[in-house]
Amino acid sequence: MNLDRFSSSFDQNRDRIVSQWMELLAFPSISTEPAHHRDCLACAEWLVRHLHSIGFDNARLLQTPGKPVVFAERPGRPGKPVVLFYGHYDVQPVDPVSEWRTPPFTPTLLDGRMRARGAQDNKGQHFYALKALETLIRDDRLQATVKIIIEGEEECGSHGISATMTEWRERLQADLLLITDIAMDGPRTPTITMGLRGLIHLTAELSGPLRDLHSGAHGGVAPNPALELPRLLATLHARDGVIAVPGFYDGVQPISPEEKVLALSMPFDPELYRRQTGVPPTGGERGRPVAERLGLRPCIDVNGIHAGFDGPGVKTIIPAKARAKLTARLAAGQDPALCLAALEAHLRQHAPEGLTLTIVEKGVGGPGFRLSPQSEWIARAAATLRGMYNTEPTRRWEGASIPVIAGLARVSGAEPLLVGFGLEEDSIHAPNESFALEQFRNGYLYVASLLAGL
Ligand SMILES: [Zn+2]
Repeated sequence: MNLDRFSSSFDQNRDRIVSQWMELLAFPSISTEPAHHRDCLACAEWLVRHLHSIGFDNARLLQTPGKPVVFAERPGRPGKPVVLFYGHYDVQPVDPVSEWRTPPFTPTLLDGRMRARGAQDNKGQHFYALKALETLIRDDRLQATVKIIIEGEEECGSHGISATMTEWRERLQADLLLITDIAMDGPRTPTITMGLRGLIHLTAELSGPLRDLHSGAHGGVAPNPALELPRLLATLHARDGVIAVPGFYDGVQPISPEEKVLALSMPFDPELYRRQTGVPPTGGERGRPVAERLGLRPCIDVNGIHAGFDGPGVKTIIPAKARAKLTARLAAGQDPALCLAALEAHLRQHAPEGLTLTIVEKGVGGPGFRLSPQSEWIARAAATLRGMYNTEPTRRWEGASIPVIAGLARVSGAEPLLVGFGLEEDSIHAPNESFALEQFRNGYLYVASLLAGL
């Protein structure tokens, strides 16, 4: 049985694997901090050398306008699928550094957990895949063609890879886009992510008064940006929570009967949600189950509103301007550029008389996507996970966005498969990030078993 072989292979090589993983974690490859640019390059170069050592003879760096991308390719047997594996070598900043119990770039294996920045996100979750590939290559059990792309700017917007990936179209062609940069619902709940939402953002400002006006001298006469902005924002939704922006829903992929059944079967406890967040799950489009509202439908949110006086006491003014920051999460099928244009047009159409609406900034994070529940890759992943956990994996639609994934899927022509082994307890992006060696081992077993079957 495959799993037993891979398990014993991991256990025999455990010490070596752990020490290599620690070498990778020791690079402070914080992409957003210019002071760490060289550390990012050193980390990328280490990965290139490492890929050479495990059988990817042509591993190299591809240049982008930002950080270089690590790329490698190993041809498989003719007629076998082409797998593109994605990961990122950059990590989040570490402040507040005083809250770390062990230094973030001195990897420490303690009580079965690797403690370091990047231990899970994403060095842990891509290194187990590289180790699985190493095993398959060594045992001559890798028949698929495997391409590897590990970028260095995921934590700060993936700008380099996004700007360059269309030039690499030929090189990136694949059948399966394998992604492990994702969590599971619980330690015994293997989870297949069936889709991600897209993202757009916009900052709107209402202005008009030349300066803050005296509310005694002008109240009831001058239009007030701080009063009018919320009124404008309220036109974005109808009373039943449905988005009222004309054209915004264009292209939204309909929910298939099979998806409806899956969505209704997703476990959701409103009381637990209320305890965890402080609010009941009553936002969004009324009458739709939570799973639909979260992953299958779009939403528009106000992230912040700023206007006027907020100090102690009283200040009698009509503020000169008011500003709101908005984001929208997009469902599969929506065109982000069209959604952004529709949102802007709606705001302009409803802008109050006497004030000026300015779109201060706007942008597209990327489109959303959704996989067919009948996907062959999902069936294979589900079978692999059933073998490991003796239970049916949960399917869920992720409400968040990983814009680079949708872009890579489009450019490579590959179908994304999102299964990872992260857990809430890993504290990614926070002080004391860690990753259980057990979860690292599970990730290794999953990738090795999945790819051995291709
Ligand atoms: Zn991250």
